[in-house]
Amino acid sequence: MGAAKERTLSIIKPDATRRNLTGKINAKFEDSGLHIVAQKRLHLTQEQAEKFYEVHRERPFFKDLVKFMISGPVVVQVLEGPDAVSQNRKIMGATNPANAEPGTIRKEFAESIEANSVHGSDSLDNAKREITFFFSETEIVG
Ligand code: ADP
Ligand code: MG
Repeated sequence: MGAAKERTLSIIKPDATRRNLTGKINAKFEDSGLHIVAQKRLHLTQEQAEKFYEVHRERPFFKDLVKFMISGPVVVQVLEGPDAVSQNRKIMGATNPANAEPGTIRKEFAESIEANSVHGSDSLDNAKREITFFFSETEIVG
């Protein structure tokens, strides 16, 4: 039996949209076998960003993170494929680009630990919650 087909939530962050890197980042996903089955460009409101990153509310970087996430447009997307959650985390690389493996999105494109170009769900449960945060089922076409 092969790996289970999963869906995960990805966000191309404002540092990357600002530098016109959407296509280059999407190529990384597609080259690794992930399919972009939903995608839209949004400018998050402060309320949306705070709600999305709710789990980090008590962290010292929370306020700055929200400010960064609303500093420009983002591209929210659903990625689908075998082991999509962990596969995407692998392609993204470590949170801090200084620790990211060569060839990963964050190694190649991130500006800093905060402006690190992409978000990806960290578990299947969070993927389901985060996909529902941005997309209705009819907007996802596998
Ligand atoms: P990841 O995005 O790799 O899952 P976290 O969930 O721990 O990382 O953090 C969420 C986001 O918060 C990170 O992607 C990054 O933009 C920001 N962040 C995390 N740690 C720091 C930090 N020490 N300083 C500033 N921003 C941070
Ligand atoms: Mg996280």
